Amino acid sequence: MKDEMILTKVNGKTNGHKNGNGHRTIDIHDFELFGDNHIATSVDTPMREDAFAISDDEKMAIIEDKFREIMETMGLDLTDDSLRGTPHRVAKMFIKEIFYGLNPENKPKISVFENKFKYGQMLVEKNINMNSTCEHHFLPIVGKAHVAYISNGEVIGLSKINRIVDYYARRPQVQERLTVQIAAELRKILKTDDVAVVIDAKHMCVSSRGIQDESSSTVTAEYSGKFKDKQVKDEFLKYLEL
Ligand SMILES: [Zn+2]
Repeated sequence: MKDEMILTKVNGKTNGHKNGNGHRTIDIHDFELFGDNHIATSVDTPMREDAFAISDDEKMAIIEDKFREIMETMGLDLTDDSLRGTPHRVAKMFIKEIFYGLNPENKPKISVFENKFKYGQMLVEKNINMNSTCEHHFLPIVGKAHVAYISNGEVIGLSKINRIVDYYARRPQVQERLTVQIAAELRKILKTDDVAVVIDAKHMCVSSRGIQDESSSTVTAEYSGKFKDKQVKDEFLKYLEL
């Protein structure tokens, strides 16, 4: 998927072209526009080839050092008792908490069960708490995910849906990509195309900086299989209103 980067139009012109290695290159000006407009370039989280060449502990030690440098560069006095432990806390929080979903080893192990009741209607799990981080500003994205599927003979435990949402949310993210990643994982696990995912979230980078819009939220949706039928989609959206 990495070589199939989606071309994104910025100001009407298509950005990105293939270089000799088959990789697309984009100039730095375009990166600025991508970030400011919150445009994702790929469905997969862009990862380096050597992403897991070092351990989590090694990563935390490096991040701790670099974050201390950032704080010192800003003029903060790290001999102060209140700030002393911050680089370590931030490093641990990045690797173990808010970005734990970057590491495939942390992917929740999901077992499926036979659908013994032969329940053939849609199952909706709504208002799933979702805490993520905007990859363009490293500020929180906070909201709710609503997920539905129609069983193809197999079901999963309800709490597992929360775990899947959390795993993909705990990465530097773009809301559109998060929505698509959750839907793709559910289709794979449940062996069905009949999946819907809607996310309604607030972006701190929109509310606390830039345009400073406190009230807006962003809604993204991914419908596949039977959920592309208007009737099925409408039924799902009606449950979300309850
Ligand atoms: Zn942002």
